[in-house]
Amino acid sequence: MIIIKGNPRDLGDGFHVSRILPSPGHRMVGPFVFFDYFGPVEFAPGHGIDVRPHPHIGLATVTYLLEGSQMHRDTLGSVQEIQPGDVNWMTAGRGIAHSERTGPETRARGHRLHGIQSWIGLPTKDEEASPSFQHVESRDLPSSRRNGVALKVITGRAFGLASPVRVFSDTFYVDAQLDAGATLEMTDEHQERAIFVVGGAAVVNGTAHGDGTMFVLDPNERSTIVAQGATRVMLLGGAPLDGPRHLWWNFVASSTDRIERAKSDWKSGRFGKIPGDEVEFIPLPD
Ligand code: MN
Repeated sequence: MIIIKGNPRDLGDGFHVSRILPSPGHRMVGPFVFFDYFGPVEFAPGHGIDVRPHPHIGLATVTYLLEGSQMHRDTLGSVQEIQPGDVNWMTAGRGIAHSERTGPETRARGHRLHGIQSWIGLPTKDEEASPSFQHVESRDLPSSRRNGVALKVITGRAFGLASPVRVFSDTFYVDAQLDAGATLEMTDEHQERAIFVVGGAAVVNGTAHGDGTMFVLDPNERSTIVAQGATRVMLLGGAPLDGPRHLWWNFVASSTDRIERAKSDWKSGRFGKIPGDEVEFIPLPD
């Protein structure tokens, strides 16, 4: 088992995140190539996040909130406020741009924000897929509850449940809430697996760690999560991607040439404009 504590990053405008994947010691878990954990952070009335328009290729972004809300807009014309427990899956494929901002009502009243954005790498054959957007509300995600453990499958399949979100390769992503004293046996249905603690007092294989810790299990390693108090963990992973991936800024690709092309496309405005968010953008880093 590998334990990842995360590295602090400032995404700009004071929005601090903990970068869990890639980490210096470990790059991917199944198709998860990127995993950013943010909050819980308190915003006073009038404040919020503004991740200005920026591009992606070769991946799907998966946003999942525990608290707060976030407004998504993209070059397909999607406009979607994401609420806690919903899943927001954006397939970038050959190219999309999006913005993620605090919506006007949430910003006006002040709020707490707490959540995760992960990136799922696409198989080589799907890297040039058409961009698309899926949003599934919390109540439409499959769930179960027994022995003090509430499970909800966000993407992929696990514990006999399958999410309606269309995915490109074998994966699972589960929100698990354990009552104090409950235990959960980690699923062994997938090749690569990790446990990420988002709240409470989880003991994983006999060791207690705080919020924001990821445990990457060895292949075939058995793992039991014991909740010393009410505990929330995310379970994730799947089959590894079909080869190495290059990550540069917001781009994921199996070739560096493709990343160079995406750089020049963003510089030249070839990703297009986001309806309702046409003015600002994040420039290509040097
Ligand atoms: Mn993004």
